[in-house]
Amino acid sequence: MDEVVIVGGGIIGASTAYFLSKEGRKIRVFERDPTYKNASFPLSLGGFRRQFFQKENILLGKFAKEFIFQLPDLLETKKNGKPTVSVVPNGYLLLFNKKQADEQYEALKNHSVCDAGTKNIKAEELPNIFPWISSEGLETATYTDSKIEGWVDPHMFHSALKNKAIELGALFEKKEIKNLNEIKAEIIVSAAGCWTNKLLSDIPVAPQKHTIFRVKCPKHIPEMPLTGDLSTGVYWRPEGKEYIAGSPNSIFDTPNLEPEWNDFEELVWPALAKRVPAFEELKLTGGWAGYYDTNKLDNNAIVGKHPKMKNVYLATGFTGRGLMQAPGIGRGLTELITTGKYQTIDLSSFSVERILSDKKRTEPYVL
Ligand SMILES: Cc1cc2nc3c(=O)[nH]c(=O)nc-3n(C[C@H](O)[C@H](O)[C@H](O)COP(=O)(O)OP(=O)(O)OC[C@H]3O[C@@H](n4cnc5c(N)ncnc54)[C@H](O)[C@@H]3O)c2cc1C
Repeated sequence: MDEVVIVGGGIIGASTAYFLSKEGRKIRVFERDPTYKNASFPLSLGGFRRQFFQKENILLGKFAKEFIFQLPDLLETKKNGKPTVSVVPNGYLLLFNKKQADEQYEALKNHSVCDAGTKNIKAEELPNIFPWISSEGLETATYTDSKIEGWVDPHMFHSALKNKAIELGALFEKKEIKNLNEIKAEIIVSAAGCWTNKLLSDIPVAPQKHTIFRVKCPKHIPEMPLTGDLSTGVYWRPEGKEYIAGSPNSIFDTPNLEPEWNDFEELVWPALAKRVPAFEELKLTGGWAGYYDTNKLDNNAIVGKHPKMKNVYLATGFTGRGLMQAPGIGRGLTELITTGKYQTIDLSSFSVERILSDKKRTEPYVL
């Protein structure tokens, strides 16, 4: 009988393994594909932000920053003295049109309560701060410029968490779990990402394909933040000397991860060129697609103990923000398992009970 078994060794599984091992728990992680070819985390943009509507998401974004900046010390191992995750703290810039502005002003109240450190400006002031942008059709914008948001290399982030968990005693094994009944453990944590519903059929999380394009532009703007234009749903950021940009189009129920190439000409390029005139000159150099672990009820995380099962906990439904939430979720689940309640950020509004009783608590700022 194992003490704790985690199903899924992705970013949530690795983080939970790390935090539980630190508390002295004996952990076994079952991961069906240790190359992580189709897992969500290596296909993500690595972004961490605190610009959300829901307070929990803002607080988890703040903790992500604290954790990432302390990571070289927290996750040092004998083999890797000071692990790095290639942090680019360029900030985020979110753009809103007139119809979206009132909701954003509501969100800003939560930013203020959570001391998020964000700044809000009228759209016409945008070019004073971001001279490369066109504010046409926008009403307002929120951004950070104090190195509190940005992005990391998702693969390095995962390796650092996993390696530290292993050094603390966690065992990672290659194995596909078909049914949670196969597992003999005091506690089971399901961290199976967008495939959670195959193990827990009452959890409304589904794989949703998102496509990312890589483009080259003669004008290089290395200081550009991760910019999300909520008026079109297109988002982009610099990637080395190039840029990467996400399509607003997403597809449920598709087994193939071929990028939706047509989206580039039809949706993404027009939106980019409208917002950043320099992007009129672009060359597509590549792209990929990955699955969001989408909570079809309300785009918010589902975390906690399953009320209908004796010893099963789960964490899923991050809907495009599981990489940045991994540290806070790993810590929160560990608090719940070891002490019976949350000690730092109260994540009870993400409870499985909320989902099973169909209580929506929508997070609107999905990029
Ligand atoms: C294009 C794209 C961009 C994104 N950008 C961002 C971003 O900028 N910031 C951010 O925070 N998030 C982002 N995300 C979302 C983020 O990647 C996910 O929310 C996060 O990876 C979820 O973590 P996870 O560990 O739950 O799932 P995964 O990373 O998918 O890991 C789950 C693991 O479980 C394993 N598994 C599943 N079922 C079983 C089973 N039955 N038995 C054994 N193993 C199993 C899988 O093989 C997989 O390795 C993005 C995602 C995509 C696709």
